[in-house]
Amino acid sequence: MTTLQDNLQAVQSRIAAACAACGRNPAEVTLLAVSKTFGVDAVQEVAACGQQDFGENYIQEGVEKITFLQSAAHTKNPFIWHCIGPIQSNKTKYVAEFFSWAHTVDRLKIAQRLNDQRPENLPPLNVCLQVNIDGGATKSGVAPEEVLELAEQVTQLPRLVLRGLMTIPDPVEGFEAQVALHAKARALFDQMRGEVNQPHFDTLSMGMTSDLEAAIHAGSTMVRVGTAIFGGRK
Ligand SMILES: *Cc1c(COP(=O)(O)O)cnc(C)c1O
Repeated sequence: MTTLQDNLQAVQSRIAAACAACGRNPAEVTLLAVSKTFGVDAVQEVAACGQQDFGENYIQEGVEKITFLQSAAHTKNPFIWHCIGPIQSNKTKYVAEFFSWAHTVDRLKIAQRLNDQRPENLPPLNVCLQVNIDGGATKSGVAPEEVLELAEQVTQLPRLVLRGLMTIPDPVEGFEAQVALHAKARALFDQMRGEVNQPHFDTLSMGMTSDLEAAIHAGSTMVRVGTAIFGGRK
């Protein structure tokens, strides 16, 4: 039986090896542990190994875990919670109140609601814009041609900090094909960094269990890993 600690260490080794293979510093890549569908015990076990950043897809489920862990007196780890699932208008309040990051902002209305609902006693919410990099018509995410305009609008919102871009490309086979797709996101990110005058625009959230090496090769700064840490989901 491998433990969650073994799994976490294996993922950290994959990240380190991927960075070494392309001459990057592993400190440039943040590991986001995606704990969706797994319970607070598993989260606490991974947190006890020093993991700080956790991602949740389903807002209600995330809020329940966050609330529980905030009240757990023995929890010393200062968790950083990332919302990586779709955000409907009627859920923005929960994202604004409970999370530190929202990765999936793809329209102004959602950004405005997050801004208006971010509590005064919390620091501004970190936001990534989700970009539909491979162009599936039914997929969520803003079109690459429209992301700069949205970025400029988001930078006007004082309770949000625009941190970068996020992508969830459809799975493709083979390292080279994966790199090519992620490289499109990286090119857009680099172009926007020059145009969006934002000191904190430093995050490119891409890469999951099956393609994190390719994402790092292409320039990801944050990989979102669920299965390789927590195991398969039902
Ligand atoms: C579930 C999920 C992940 C993690 O996927 P794995 O393949 O289990 O690593 C990453 N990002 C998003 C947006 C997800 O929904």
